[in-house]
Amino acid sequence: MKQCIFCKIIERSLPAEIVFEDDNLIAIRDINPQAPVHVLIIPKIHYPTIEDAPAAVLGEMCARAARLASDLKISTDGYRTVVNCRDHAGQTVMHLHLHLLGGRWFHWPPG
Ligand code: 5GP
Ligand code: ZN
Repeated sequence: MKQCIFCKIIERSLPAEIVFEDDNLIAIRDINPQAPVHVLIIPKIHYPTIEDAPAAVLGEMCARAARLASDLKISTDGYRTVVNCRDHAGQTVMHLHLHLLGGRWFHWPPG
């Protein structure tokens, strides 16, 4: 998937502020943050949507979000995780990613 922005970040042909990396995942600061903390947790394999990734990968992403929330000091106050899927949710990058947002209040329902 050479044209994919996140694949390019993973292979280091595009820059990003990396906050975590292991064999399976990378986590980067969002280029257009919607909260004081806005990190994207991205599998290194190119799965277009949440429907394409195995449960083990989805579990790793969620577990990593919780660990990063603690590391980034947003755990106590609380935070939001979001996975957008396709058009109605506003998915713009067709490489699965989980948004970790914190450092401000979020409303529910989201509207
Ligand atoms: P989506 O709308 O697909 O759920 O979220 C895509 C996210 O990727 C957006 O929040 C957008 O700001 C972020 N994004 C798009 N291009 C880049 C980029 O080149 N670098 C980084 N760090 N984030 C990006
Ligand atoms: Zn990709």
